[in-house]
Amino acid sequence: MKRLTTTAGNPIADNQNSLSAGARGPLLMQDYQLLEKLAHQNRERIPERVVHAKGWGAFGTFKVTHDITQYTSAKLFSEIGKETELVARFSTVAGELGAADNERDVRGFSLKFYTEEGNWDMVGNNTPVFFLRDPYKFPDFIHTQKRHPKTNLRSATAMWDYWSLSPEALHQVTILMSDRGCPKTPMHMNGYGSHTFSFINASNERFWVKFHFKTQQGHDFYTNAESAEKIGQTREGYQESLFGAIDNRHFPKWKMFVQIMPEEDADKTPYNPFDLTKVWPHGDYPLIPVGEFELNRNAENYFAEIEQAAYSPSNIIPGIGHSPDKVLQARVFSYADAHRYRLGTHYEALPVNAPKCPVHHYHKDGNMNFMGQKTGHVDAYYEPNSIDEAAKEDPSYAEPPLKISGDADRYNHRDGNDDYGQPRALHDLFDADQKARLYMNTAEAMQGVPEEIIERALGHYDLISKEYGGGIRAARATLSGAAQAAE
Ligand code: NDP
Repeated sequence: MKRLTTTAGNPIADNQNSLSAGARGPLLMQDYQLLEKLAHQNRERIPERVVHAKGWGAFGTFKVTHDITQYTSAKLFSEIGKETELVARFSTVAGELGAADNERDVRGFSLKFYTEEGNWDMVGNNTPVFFLRDPYKFPDFIHTQKRHPKTNLRSATAMWDYWSLSPEALHQVTILMSDRGCPKTPMHMNGYGSHTFSFINASNERFWVKFHFKTQQGHDFYTNAESAEKIGQTREGYQESLFGAIDNRHFPKWKMFVQIMPEEDADKTPYNPFDLTKVWPHGDYPLIPVGEFELNRNAENYFAEIEQAAYSPSNIIPGIGHSPDKVLQARVFSYADAHRYRLGTHYEALPVNAPKCPVHHYHKDGNMNFMGQKTGHVDAYYEPNSIDEAAKEDPSYAEPPLKISGDADRYNHRDGNDDYGQPRALHDLFDADQKARLYMNTAEAMQGVPEEIIERALGHYDLISKEYGGGIRAARATLSGAAQAAE
C-alpha cells in the first residue's frame, strides 16, 4: 500500500474528515491537511494561452528517409534512418480552453524535436500562410477573433470589418472557409512551418527553407452542418480521436518535406519570400522529401505534458535559423515571453520542455528554481571567467552574416503587394463542389454583418475573381431566400 502524505511527505491518517472542536464544528486552524488541500485547489488553474488555448497532443518519433545534408548541418537530419523524439501539440486559435474541438478555425501544429543540440520547435499551423504580414497587426487581429468587450460574444462584424480593411488576410480567409478550415480530426490535416526559415550547411552556406508536414491519413473535413452536429454530440472530438487512435495503436503519421530557395533568389522572386501571407509556388520550389514522424505515445498527465508543453520559434538548432520574416521575428520574442508569464521563469526546465542534451547557462535564481547552477562549475556564476570547466561560447556555431540593408522606417506593408493572385490560384484549384462549400461557408460567416462591411469585403473577392465574388453573392441570396421562406 502506498501511504498518503502531505506535499511535505508527512503521513495522513484521515483524508475524509476535517479537524473540528466537536462534531458540529467549528474547524481548527491547525488542520494543515485541510488548508493545504484547499490552497492547492485554488491554484490548479494557470493562465490559459491568449491564442491556441484549446489543444491536443502526443509524443512521437521522427525518422529521416532522405539525405538533405547538402542544405543543413542540423544533426537530426545527419543520416538516413536517424530517429529523434518529439512532442506534438495541435490547437484551435480562437476558442478558450473549454471550447469545442470541431469548430471552423485555423489549427496550430507544433512540434518540439528533442535533438542532441537542443530543442528545435517547429511552431506552425495547418495552413501555409497567415492573416497578416506585419506583427504590428497581430493584437488587433486577435481581438476580432475573441469576445466583444460588452456583449462577451464573438463578433462576425468585427471579423469582417477587420478582414475587409486588410486584403492581405484574403488568402488565409479563403483557406479558413474552404474544406481545410474544418478538419475532422488533428490527424486529417497537414502542418506547415508557414514562415520562411534558414538552413545552414556544413560549409556555412545559407538557404531559405519552408517546412511541410503532409498527413498520411488523408485530408478529411466536416461541413458546417456536420461540425454543428458533431459538437452537439461531443465538445472533445479531437481529444477523443487523437488519444483514442494512439491508445488503440493506430499511430498517425506525417511525411516531412522542405522547399529550398538559394539565398540570392530572395531578391529575384516577384513576391516577397518572407511574406507570411504568401506560399512559394511548388512549380518554382518543389517539395523535397526529408522524413516521416508518427505519434505513438499519449501523455501520462495531460496538464504536465501537453498543457505545459511550451513551444517557441526562438528554439532553433545549429543548421536551422530564422529569416527576415517580420512576423517570425516578433514571434521569437512573444512566444517565449508568453511562456514566462504563463508557466514561470524556468518553464524550459519542466520535464516536457527540458532538452535531452546538457544545458549550460549563467541565468541565476528566480522563482521555483529547482535546477541549481548550470554553468558547469560552482565558482562560475559570471562570465567571462578563468575556470576551464565552466561553460563557454563556441564561435564555431556562428551563422553566416545576413546580407541585409535598408533604412529604418515604418514601411507600409500593403505597398506593392499582390493580395489577390495566390487566393485566385487556390480558388482555381477547387472543383465545383469545393467552390460551392467555400461560397456558402463564407456567406454563413457574414450573417448579421452590416451591409457596407459585406460590400467592402465582396469588392476584394471580386478582385480575386468575379466568379468568387459572384459565388458568395449567390450563396447569400440562397441564405436570405431560405430565411424568408422560413418566416
Ligand atoms: P500547386 O498546384 O503546385 O499546389 C497546390 C497545393 O494546394 C497542393 O499541393 C495542396 O497543398 C494545396 N491544396 C490542394 N487542395 C487544397 C484544398 N482543397 N485546400 C487547400 N489547399 C489545397 O500550386 P501552387 O504551389 O502554385 O499553389 C497554388 C495555391 O495552392 C497557392 O496559392 C496556395 O493557396 C495553395 N497552396 C500552396 C502551397 C504551397 O506551398 N505551394 C501549400 C498549400 C496550399 P499540400 O500539398 O500542402 O496539401
